[in-house]
Amino acid sequence: KKSDLLEDAKNEEEAIEEVTQKVLTNERITKDLFAINAPNFENNVTNHIKDILEEIRKMTDEQRKKILLNKKLKIIDAQLKVMLVRGKEIFNKLILRTKRKEITIPKHASPLRHAAAIILAVSLSNEDIPKLSGSGLATMIGASSNKVNNLYNLWYKGFAPKSDFNFQSAKLGRKPIFLYFFEQLIDTEINLIEFISHLERINTLKLVSRLKKIIINAKKQKTLDSLTNTSLSMNFTAKEQNLLKQLTERQIKDLQYLVNNYSDTFDKYFFDLVEMIKLLMISNKSHKIISADFSIAHFVRFLMEKGIDFLSWKRLEKLIGAIFRFLKNTKYSYLFPAQMHSEKIITYEEGRPDLVQRKIVGRRIKLYAMRYIYNGRYFEKGIAKCTECVREGFTINTSIPRAAAKEFHHKIMRMEGYTVNELYALFTEDRGNPYFLPDLIERMEREGVIVRCKAHHQIIHSHRFNNFKKLISWENIPREFPQDIFDLPADIIHILVWISVNSFPLPLLLRQEDLEKLEEEGEEASEEINIIATEEKISETKYATTYGVIYFLQKKYIIDRIYGGICSACGEFNTREHLPSFDFNHLYEVLYELGEISLKDRELYKKMKKKVIRMLYTSTRPCSEIVKELEREQGGYICCNCHVVIHTDLSLINKIYDDQNIIRKIVMDKENVIKKYRNNLIDSTESNKDPLRAEIARSYSYWAYLEALYIITNGK
Ligand SMILES: [Zn+2]
Ligand SMILES: [Zn+2]
Ligand SMILES: [Zn+2]
Repeated sequence: KKSDLLEDAKNEEEAIEEVTQKVLTNERITKDLFAINAPNFENNVTNHIKDILEEIRKMTDEQRKKILLNKKLKIIDAQLKVMLVRGKEIFNKLILRTKRKEITIPKHASPLRHAAAIILAVSLSNEDIPKLSGSGLATMIGASSNKVNNLYNLWYKGFAPKSDFNFQSAKLGRKPIFLYFFEQLIDTEINLIEFISHLERINTLKLVSRLKKIIINAKKQKTLDSLTNTSLSMNFTAKEQNLLKQLTERQIKDLQYLVNNYSDTFDKYFFDLVEMIKLLMISNKSHKIISADFSIAHFVRFLMEKGIDFLSWKRLEKLIGAIFRFLKNTKYSYLFPAQMHSEKIITYEEGRPDLVQRKIVGRRIKLYAMRYIYNGRYFEKGIAKCTECVREGFTINTSIPRAAAKEFHHKIMRMEGYTVNELYALFTEDRGNPYFLPDLIERMEREGVIVRCKAHHQIIHSHRFNNFKKLISWENIPREFPQDIFDLPADIIHILVWISVNSFPLPLLLRQEDLEKLEEEGEEASEEINIIATEEKISETKYATTYGVIYFLQKKYIIDRIYGGICSACGEFNTREHLPSFDFNHLYEVLYELGEISLKDRELYKKMKKKVIRMLYTSTRPCSEIVKELEREQGGYICCNCHVVIHTDLSLINKIYDDQNIIRKIVMDKENVIKKYRNNLIDSTESNKDPLRAEIARSYSYWAYLEALYIITNGK
């Protein structure tokens, strides 16, 4: 009968704890319930707690003495912060009991005195905080001297029993207990997200109650063992027996003393400890995934900010350090990341010089994000895939990782990013957060970020190509017209471009960034459009667009004639659909990559080359001449995905990928691409036709001719 009662009490405790946790996280619940009994009481008390603590903060040391029980001690500002969190916890427990109709707070209750009593309760129940004097607090808030003590005794003593347990001198056998809890929580077979929900499912309170039972029965157990020398321990698992074996007599004695005399302290201490070990395990798993060093200082800062502060900062840091180093030296060491060399809070800028760490960690975060974003939508058979490449039926670009040639695209242009460096920067700003990876994925999903290969991404942002693709790629042309645009006389091509650009809706000619800016500014945008739409601006934009389209036509002509219109390395990207994705790559860069020329030679070549290949193209320069210039530059066209592959840094590859099969694929990809690239350098003897060389002089009559055509098409 009695044990049933005990069991009930335990369930009760669990129920209370669960609801308390909910109340702590969900303000709305508490609001609802307090409207029933004492409207505004809750807010008033909370505000008074804040006010009183703020007033104490402003006091001089001399003034503070008046509210301290032991005048020799000092109360510091950091402790006031802790007191606020603890005060709210205690108050929430009171609210809970009200909700369960166990108690009713009288209507005339004074929120101010309740606040003072709560602060008193906090100081009396926390070993890290100097004890306050009830009468001192009463005087401070202008109440008669026994009021605060009375309220404390009446309402809050039960919630916050006086704790005088001396943790410093007690031998609690922390290390065997760390290991015991760790082994209850561990699961190495699952991924990070599964691991997080696995830990969430484990009821911390149950673990703590179980430990309590083990401790209470420990002595009995030891005697039994020694008496019979057999395992009569029907209730104890092997791990529990092992824990008992690890604990010394003295440790068991101290733990039992704690259970018997400070049961609440035992619960609170081990509850927070288990929660902390859970977070530590999540953090360590995340760090292992991205090969980052673990920083105890950052982790403790995160805990303090989250209100897990059952110890002072310094002591918590010591405890975490002890747990981390101890567990890292067990047979589980393979689950733990390295520890950061200098254990202090560092910023991204301070961490910047560590280029190798930045490259490894940044790239691994990128791989993780590409793998898990939208539940793995972009991930298949060990690699991330561009869905556009899949749609087009590409094989090389979908079967080889080519991670550096994958990017994150954002709907809004100026939010573009999540590059390797930016991902590393985000990590360094948030490295104490155990949930860094899931938080990052959630943020990217919320922003609607998508994965694209570099080539397909480039096309999204090439508005000129997209606007005039029909013309540039000569799509769906009626049979009676030539099926190759370059079969037309040059003059006609120029006229077609001119007409197309001029009859295109003006706002669409603007760059995406400009359009976004206009959209965002809304009302004022009309004014902005007027400014942009000045005669000068219009003609400038049209001029630039016309030359842009002619550039694309020239580029297409050259790549079509020399390469048959496809990327010579992967054979998948083509000029019809992907013209903006073709890059000119200089040979000397590849030779340097292969170690065939020195850094000095490379610099020499760099000085000799044309800064931007685009500048070799002018609408009046014949294609044959452009090809000759390109040949002088030494190099060839290649899609930008393959271009990235050529420059892939293999030196850190073993630190970035864990799968040897993937590594082999990456190394072979680079070799193949370089080989194909070198066999396909630009050679001017191949092409000598000049399809875009116009015969008509740019005279007045020429423009009149174009304008007449323009007016006619407009009139239609
Ligand atoms: Zn793609
Ligand atoms: Zn983009
Ligand atoms: Zn390619």
